Amino acid sequence: MTKFVFVTGGVVSSIGKGIVAASLGRLLKSRQYSVSILKLDPYINVDPGTMSPFQHGEVFVTDDGAETDLDLGHYERFTDTAMSRLNSVTTGSIYQAVINKERRGDYMGGTVQVIPHITNEIKVRILRVAKDKNPDVVIIEIGGTVGDIESLPFLEAIRQFRTEVGRQNLIYMHVTLVPWIPSAGEMKTKPTQHSVKELRSIGIQPDILICRCDRPLHPGIKEKMSRFCDVPVECVIPAPDAKSIYEVPILLEREGLAHQVLTLLNLEQRPPDLNQWQSLVERLYRPQERLEIAIVGKYVRLNDAYLSVVEALRHGAIALGSDLHIRWINSEDIEANGAAAYLEQVAGIIVPGGFGIRGVDGKIAAIQYAREQRIPFLGLCLGMQCCVIEWARHLAGLENAHSAEFETNSQNPVIHLLPEQQDIIDLGGTMRLGLYACRILPGSLAERLYGESVIYERHRHRYEFNNAYRSLFLETGYQISGTSPDGRLVEIIEYPDHPFFIAVQFHPEFRSRPNVPHPLFQGLLEASRTHLQRREAEVSVPL
Ligand code: GLN
Repeated sequence: MTKFVFVTGGVVSSIGKGIVAASLGRLLKSRQYSVSILKLDPYINVDPGTMSPFQHGEVFVTDDGAETDLDLGHYERFTDTAMSRLNSVTTGSIYQAVINKERRGDYMGGTVQVIPHITNEIKVRILRVAKDKNPDVVIIEIGGTVGDIESLPFLEAIRQFRTEVGRQNLIYMHVTLVPWIPSAGEMKTKPTQHSVKELRSIGIQPDILICRCDRPLHPGIKEKMSRFCDVPVECVIPAPDAKSIYEVPILLEREGLAHQVLTLLNLEQRPPDLNQWQSLVERLYRPQERLEIAIVGKYVRLNDAYLSVVEALRHGAIALGSDLHIRWINSEDIEANGAAAYLEQVAGIIVPGGFGIRGVDGKIAAIQYAREQRIPFLGLCLGMQCCVIEWARHLAGLENAHSAEFETNSQNPVIHLLPEQQDIIDLGGTMRLGLYACRILPGSLAERLYGESVIYERHRHRYEFNNAYRSLFLETGYQISGTSPDGRLVEIIEYPDHPFFIAVQFHPEFRSRPNVPHPLFQGLLEASRTHLQRREAEVSVPL
């Protein structure tokens, strides 16, 4: 029988519920329990695919092509388990399903209401994960904060769930904030008391409290919390800020979280194997040389917009023992001041994915700079498309070349719509999404990095390389080192007359893991390290 752990949040948003859920996943997995993690998001968008990254951060893409909340990325990275579209549920998707049923007449004339129709649909989605994947434990994170109007149907559904699956088969975990008040020199439990009261008024008594705090919990706070919130003192788990999110499983293990969860769920206690994870954190905290990588994008004001790219870089840096620093560069600043002003000192450059024309010229300028100054470069999705425009304008003499995304009637549309996209009008969920195979060119940099002849990567785009320009592209020094298996779609390009210059139509960042860094990111970092060493050697040679 699958067991269920519900994770709610109190007091404030952005409290780290996703990291807590993912960390518990890791702790259970390290005890040989299979885990799946589900996110219930209270917004009315059917999925975050159409939301601005400024609003919602990165859109994470699963193997099966779902556009999801970025927390699914944490779940995958922490548990090293691929999630699917079943793992992401929004209010919008629940209502869409219920309204579709209503239109089909499935409710046989009944009045369709939040309770029971919406709450039933929510429960069906939770059970579907249990049924489809049959894991030992499903962890369900409820987005938002207890007290929000939006999350009420979710909380009502998980309350009802208790009687349906049995008290012994589920627990409620509440992640809350214990603020430090400098003027009083004290930590305060009142916000937690209030949020637990709010939860209880809905009918949910938490079994475990996770107390987020910016320093170790003061003595007596646990007991106070236990007394006021009716949670046994050993189930009041401190979660102080960590230097890295990857340390959180280790901290929570030390506080006995997994032990308490297993006890409450009547599951056998097993010793955890966290050796690999522990050594990963040690390497992260004992970095060697500083490596500065530039990310040139449009959404740099909100770093979460590129979360998986940052994490993939971090995984590569852990493997190399490098002290990673990210230099965030707004590509519009490059348009105003030139690329050299921002990129001269960096060891490597990434131009990540994106949509819309704003800042594209700055990205193209950054790519030209990386190519000409021989700085290691990795282009991702739109980053690859910008490489092709840069090539066309500066190496192929097609000055008016553009992507059809930005100039519908371009005379040289070197990037154009995928054929299957021609007649699509809806924006949501209609891109080329999810995992696709890619055939690698023997002898290429891509082959050296991946060490495979066929790879699988996740996609999220509407546009592609225009094959009318293929031969010209190859004649002018570029290489096409990855294509779809039928050879039709260009997936990887590289510029061989350069120490490291590669760009991909997919999003490799989604498949990187802290313990299994992605070869493209690790390759970029290795090349960046070499670039830095070479530059330092040149500087130290007396004239
Ligand atoms: N806007 C481009 C396209 O739709 C690239 C998308 C992306 O970078 N994810 O093809």
